[in-house]
Amino acid sequence: MARIMGAARALPHVSTQAAVIDVIRAAGTISRAGLIEETGLTGATISTLVRRLIDDGLVVETGRAESTGGKPRVLLELNHTARYAVGVHLDHGGIVYVLTTLGGGVVAQMSRAGAGVQDPPDVVDRMAREVAALLASAGVDPARVSGLGLVAPGPLAPASGMRVTPPSMRQWEDFPLDRALEEAVGVPVLLDNDATAAALGEHWSGRAGARATFATVYMGTGLGAGLIVNGGAYEGVSGNAGEIGHICLDLDGPECWCGSRGCTEALAGPAAVVAAARADPAVASAAGLDRRRTPARSTAAAQFAAVARAALRGHDGARALLDRSARYVAVATRTLANVMDLDLVVLTGPSFAIAGSVYLPAIQDELDRSFFSRSTHSVTVRISPVATTAAAIGAAAMALQHELVPQRGMLRLPDRGEEHAGANG
Ligand SMILES: [Zn+2]
Repeated sequence: MARIMGAARALPHVSTQAAVIDVIRAAGTISRAGLIEETGLTGATISTLVRRLIDDGLVVETGRAESTGGKPRVLLELNHTARYAVGVHLDHGGIVYVLTTLGGGVVAQMSRAGAGVQDPPDVVDRMAREVAALLASAGVDPARVSGLGLVAPGPLAPASGMRVTPPSMRQWEDFPLDRALEEAVGVPVLLDNDATAAALGEHWSGRAGARATFATVYMGTGLGAGLIVNGGAYEGVSGNAGEIGHICLDLDGPECWCGSRGCTEALAGPAAVVAAARADPAVASAAGLDRRRTPARSTAAAQFAAVARAALRGHDGARALLDRSARYVAVATRTLANVMDLDLVVLTGPSFAIAGSVYLPAIQDELDRSFFSRSTHSVTVRISPVATTAAAIGAAAMALQHELVPQRGMLRLPDRGEEHAGANG
């Protein structure tokens, strides 16, 4: 059955097994005594759960740690190759595929042509063939694939995949993307938006450290945010939380495709930067955007990358456009940090992968100067080391998390002292 992540959380339920898996995954290796300490569960419960996980092949014993007095403790870790997941990031300009292990490690990846103007059913048929090629390239048996996480530009509609589509993908409106792909590939498919998936990928792979609450700001063709709250993705009512690209920064500003005016994305997103570059002959020429040289199929993200490269080569006009965009994105990011009281923001997505060196200092400076709670704590801003493929990696993490940590809602662990509540879960 195809699901949207938000809908899958309709039955909040924290299972103790899920909590134990999550702690082992986050720790890398941990002893049973460590699990007892981290989860607050009893020794008997941990012993039973760990035995079940080992019998299921999900967890293995991996050696011993020194202990302070007494006998050495046996260490446990996830059996990384017990399960695999496929992550697919579908966009107008490209489709990125990754195959990850249980722990989120990437074992194969490939990029193929985007959705473009191809008919949705034809794109889905092609995606099924490309997923098969991905598995074959890594020699992974399809039977060991838990699921496929699919990310597409939002907004998404729980009932039918993509409902209101960005301008570049209008023909996908009302196409039941997740169901069609599930039929074509034959594994469960979860659909989510790119920014949320990227945030989950940072969390699942441990790159955000022990933090249970943080946000990613994702810039590809558009601009959005993914929110991790208490260890789980915050999805909102319909899976569309985090749309900071539609924070209004000018009431009388330009019309945005969402129906509003003066949105951050309309003022300063990649497409706005490209439009401004095209309007300036010197910048257009420096970025290769003058009409003569621009391929008709070139996407907004690719054209933004061209402007960014011109700026990084030292072209003043291109640099000024990026600096201006960065100031707007910084204010939208500060708004997000204020609303959520964050101490970590990770910049990710292909547009930050190329232009992060311009945006990072502008965003960090804005937060240092103007973050509401700056006297209490600072906000660290950094660029994801996998910014280009973050959404696809996150999509795979989403599929793994859904199988291994099912319907856990917003709670990471049973509260200490309330084990009876969790032990039934
Ligand atoms: Zn808007």
